[in-house]
Amino acid sequence: MAYFTKYVCFYKLSNENTLMLNTLTGAIDVVDNETFYLINKTIKSRKINKKFDDQTYIKLKNRGYIFETKNEELKIKNKLREISLSSNSKVLNTKFVICPTMGCNLRCTYCFEGNDMHKNFKLMSEKQLNVIFNHIHQSIDKFKASDQSKSKLNYPTISLFGGEPLLSCNYSIIEKIFRFSNELKIPVSIVTNGTTINEYFDLIEKFKDIISVIQITLDGNKAIHDIRRIYADGRGTFDKICNGIDKILKTGIKISLRINVDKENIDGISELKNIFDKNNWSKNPLFVPYASPVKCYKCIQDSNILKESEMLDIFIKNGWYGNEQSFLKTVLSPVFGVVTNFFETSNDKIKPWKQTYCEATFGAQYCFSPDGTITTCLTCVGKPKYKIGTFDENSVNIDENKLKMWTQRDYFNMQKCKECKFLLFCAGGCPVQSVERFGRIDYPSCDDIEKTIEIYVKNIANKLLLSKWR
Ligand code: SF4
Ligand code: SF4
Repeated sequence: MAYFTKYVCFYKLSNENTLMLNTLTGAIDVVDNETFYLINKTIKSRKINKKFDDQTYIKLKNRGYIFETKNEELKIKNKLREISLSSNSKVLNTKFVICPTMGCNLRCTYCFEGNDMHKNFKLMSEKQLNVIFNHIHQSIDKFKASDQSKSKLNYPTISLFGGEPLLSCNYSIIEKIFRFSNELKIPVSIVTNGTTINEYFDLIEKFKDIISVIQITLDGNKAIHDIRRIYADGRGTFDKICNGIDKILKTGIKISLRINVDKENIDGISELKNIFDKNNWSKNPLFVPYASPVKCYKCIQDSNILKESEMLDIFIKNGWYGNEQSFLKTVLSPVFGVVTNFFETSNDKIKPWKQTYCEATFGAQYCFSPDGTITTCLTCVGKPKYKIGTFDENSVNIDENKLKMWTQRDYFNMQKCKECKFLLFCAGGCPVQSVERFGRIDYPSCDDIEKTIEIYVKNIANKLLLSKWR
């Protein structure tokens, strides 16, 4: 017997119109009140409403809202699962994250790495580094011989991460990495706290052609930033970082300015815009600010953490994000990425679905830490419980079974996700959160995706109203 799919969500766009979103087929349709009423009645009664005219019925069927049999619907879901698993299994390791040390000169109040790692650290040895270089050579050969070399998406990159990669004790390691990247013409990105730019400036200038971007964090004006991003002795870092940003921009290297947002700093975000203007950064195309929510992977409730939907709501209401004039062009999170990607893809193209949750489950990224562990997730660098392999002064050894736990994490088969209409938007949530909270990687870790979509849709309602149900 024909039935209405459960993979449908409704969002009110105006007094007369509602957006109908089919999370299984990716269809979006704006319906009037009469059609919405009939659809709603159908869903509640679990019987197809006889009052649908033929044209409406056929359209609902063609767009995957109505199925004649459960098998038809299941076939689509199975096909999407097959494509997701198959494309994930083909991904090659092309993103190489090198952490010269896990030590850091800062003690940021919300850091996910933990200060023990920052205080008691070792440096990557030259032999370890050579083993990584060798691994990169081999991986690039595999990449060049594969189909993936046709796509820019997977083109090899090196990222410097830590700890703080630009500690002065890392200088010779960083120099070697730059030389290596330069020879192979592999772009290098750097994630730094920005306090040691002066010490590295000559090196950065020298190798600026291979440095694709430098990510630096500012969390608010001086008063706010200086209570969050502090040295070990409690001093603030705001002035030092601003000087560093100025110097980098003069070299022509792109700055990705990250703002970590939680309840403690969200009210002060607007002041950052004045700081960007005052420093003449706002109009510089090399300066790209973005916000990202601070996360707690362990705790279900933390008094400082904002849900992504709450953060987005505040950003949009204040005009900081979501219109032409907004100073934040991007909000970075796996949840938010899929929502924007979905709505920005035009309706005549195949809408994207989340084939894998994040870079850690995608499988292209390996993160090398001086303790000899390899992880796929940046958050877990140097944490043995998350390793997918090891390396020493002789070789790199990947544990394929452990790697598969990430890259083949089958969210289509997780019990709660199977029943969830956001499955294709969510892909089971953050695996680290699943491990930290529930002790298992193959366990769902729900984000507030429903509310996030609702807020996003409300902001683009006028645009959506232009594509009415015909
Ligand atoms: S596994 Fe979680 S913490 Fe790691 S990259 Fe993915 S979303 Fe981030
Ligand atoms: S993790 Fe939660 S929200 Fe995501 S698909 Fe699974 S059940 Fe749905």
